Amino acid sequence: MSTETPEQLENKEIAARYRALLRSLPDSADSNDKKLIRKAFNLAKDAHSEVRRKSGEPYIFHPIEVATIISKEIGLGPVSVASALIHDVVEDSDYTLEDIDRLFGEEIARIIDGLTKISGVFDQDISMQAENFRKMLLTISDDIRVIIIKLADRLHNMRTMESMPQHKQLKIASETLYIYAPLAHRIGLYNIKTELEDLSLKYTEPEVYRDIVLKLKASKAGEMKYLKKFSAVIREALKKEGFDFTIKERTKSIYSIRKKMVNQGIGFDEIYDTFAIRIILNSPINKEKADAWRVYSIVTDFFRPNPDRLRDWISAPKANGYESLHTTVMGSEGHWVEVQIRSERMDEVAERGYAAHWKYKEDASGTNKLDLWIANIREMLENNEGSALEFVDDFKLNLFGEEIYIFTPKGDLKILPAGATPLDFSFSIHTDIGLRTLGAKVNGKLVPLSYKLRSGDQVEIITSQKQKPKEDWLNYVVTAKAKSNIKSELKSEQKEIAEEGKAILQRKLNYIKVKPSDSLIQQMTKYFNLKNPSELYYRVGMKIIDNNQIKEFMRAQQQGIYSFIKKKILGSSKKEAKKEVETPGKNEKQILVFGPEEDKLEYRLAKCCNPIAGDSVFGYLASGGEGIKVHRNNCPNAIYLQSNHAGRLMKATWISSNQTTFVSVIVIRGIDTVGLVNKVTQIISNDLLVNIRSINISGDDGLFEGFITVVVKDKGHLSNVMDQLKLVEGVTSVERRNAG
Ligand code: MN
Repeated sequence: MSTETPEQLENKEIAARYRALLRSLPDSADSNDKKLIRKAFNLAKDAHSEVRRKSGEPYIFHPIEVATIISKEIGLGPVSVASALIHDVVEDSDYTLEDIDRLFGEEIARIIDGLTKISGVFDQDISMQAENFRKMLLTISDDIRVIIIKLADRLHNMRTMESMPQHKQLKIASETLYIYAPLAHRIGLYNIKTELEDLSLKYTEPEVYRDIVLKLKASKAGEMKYLKKFSAVIREALKKEGFDFTIKERTKSIYSIRKKMVNQGIGFDEIYDTFAIRIILNSPINKEKADAWRVYSIVTDFFRPNPDRLRDWISAPKANGYESLHTTVMGSEGHWVEVQIRSERMDEVAERGYAAHWKYKEDASGTNKLDLWIANIREMLENNEGSALEFVDDFKLNLFGEEIYIFTPKGDLKILPAGATPLDFSFSIHTDIGLRTLGAKVNGKLVPLSYKLRSGDQVEIITSQKQKPKEDWLNYVVTAKAKSNIKSELKSEQKEIAEEGKAILQRKLNYIKVKPSDSLIQQMTKYFNLKNPSELYYRVGMKIIDNNQIKEFMRAQQQGIYSFIKKKILGSSKKEAKKEVETPGKNEKQILVFGPEEDKLEYRLAKCCNPIAGDSVFGYLASGGEGIKVHRNNCPNAIYLQSNHAGRLMKATWISSNQTTFVSVIVIRGIDTVGLVNKVTQIISNDLLVNIRSINISGDDGLFEGFITVVVKDKGHLSNVMDQLKLVEGVTSVERRNAG
């Protein structure tokens, strides 16, 4: 009978786990490799000796398991395995980064530094996380091993989360879905991505998870039988042709089933299209593509393929290195079956990730797709001027987005996220080309810049030295690179125009002998309803604010505060004006008008005295942009307001709402001709003596659309205006804008 103490048993278990790690090393590992790993193990064991995990296990179990994932499931080399063993040492013990550097050298110290920097990233609130995440990627993007070890760390934590409190489980699982699973996908670690997603579901939606697991178990037997029957046909045909191959019947991922159920709003039983088999060929590298297509041809001899579902990732591999030939064919009983065809080499890349297989194993064959991706991340990080959250969104778009393959006129391939436009394409070639993009030809045909590119499109960009980025370009682009470049260019251009505008304004004011004092500029900014003086300068520079408007401001300013207020509100009361048009006098509704000129302004009835129609009232311009509040003359607050804020008071009069003038919006469309705006405004204001409150005409491809806000007496008056506008050459339609 054994009389071992718990401590002895524990040490035995540690040793067993460590031996399992050693067994997972490839045969090529030599004694130096093993020495390195032993050294790392000893350090970790010492550093964590006093610590236990939540489950009560010795802490050292965790680094051993993470290292085993790195070696066995991902296939990284001894440096990564050693780093994984000591990944928590600097963070959780007295050992410092200098110690690691001294003991293990610079390479491992750098990896540990990166890993230490990532941890804690997710302990803050969401926007802090985003900022930290950005920093983290910036620090580690030169060594992908840091991300991979972090993923292995996360995977082991997810596998052993049972003894955590529930709120922590939820938090960790959500983070995993938010960042880690997409990262794993991007690096090409499909198995790890799938397991992370499944485990996350287990904690975020435990009932759903259990339900799917049970149903999968129940359906598996029948499904396997079906797939075996399906693949038997193919097996025999391939043997006859002399192929060396294996066929795997693919298992479905729990999370992907859940996603399908939610996205398509269907139940478990309605999901049929996840039947899939994988044919893995033992082909020499120079024959693997030809062999894959031969197999494709054999498969489709027996089963009819769906032409929309052919995916050739052998000729154009995904950016994460994934290569495979996929087709979906009709099996018996009307089931679609996905058939994946690939070589053993391709299969290993798919299962373990491109990075693991090519870059850090033994083959250091220069740049690969993953390097390009990392270079892209760097660029995104360095260009990014927006908020950190926006960055994470961009980043995730680039992670998730299916890729499309676009060709240059010379036939070079560019990989862009789905939804990309010619502008994204031109920025992907060069920033200067992007900024000067005038137009684009797709497959020889001129298209708008907002055109959504499709895989296989050949795109030619037309540039002009005179072209500059436009505001609306931001609506067309999806790549972070294009977005940040357009934004920064717009910003610097605005700054330039504002500087110019400032000089112009100063000249103009000097000319009419007015000193451009700070307070005058502030008043002017308010008067034009702008946020700050640079917006004012910008508008002057763009000639949106011209001499007449400046003169008007000066007049208003001289007339004192009342006109000033009136102007300000008139300028910003479009919303309210529309409302009034909708409610002309069915039942003699009473409304308020203000000032000696009885202007219709936006107002609210004060809650302290609740005036009703007919009460004698006054208007009070409340501070803080609240607009006009209407109080009764005998309101308890009236005396205070009247004595202390006389300058903000306004005469208010009740009138019947159908007696007065109305603001109405006319929509006018037609063919753009020279001097059109002039003609239109002349008819309205000179010929018909109607007040124009605003006019906004925009042209696009020779067509124009204009919104003219006019002040009219009544409906008849409005129809008259509209009739006259219809007579203008080039105008094809004139309508009154309805609500909304
Ligand atoms: Mn850890």
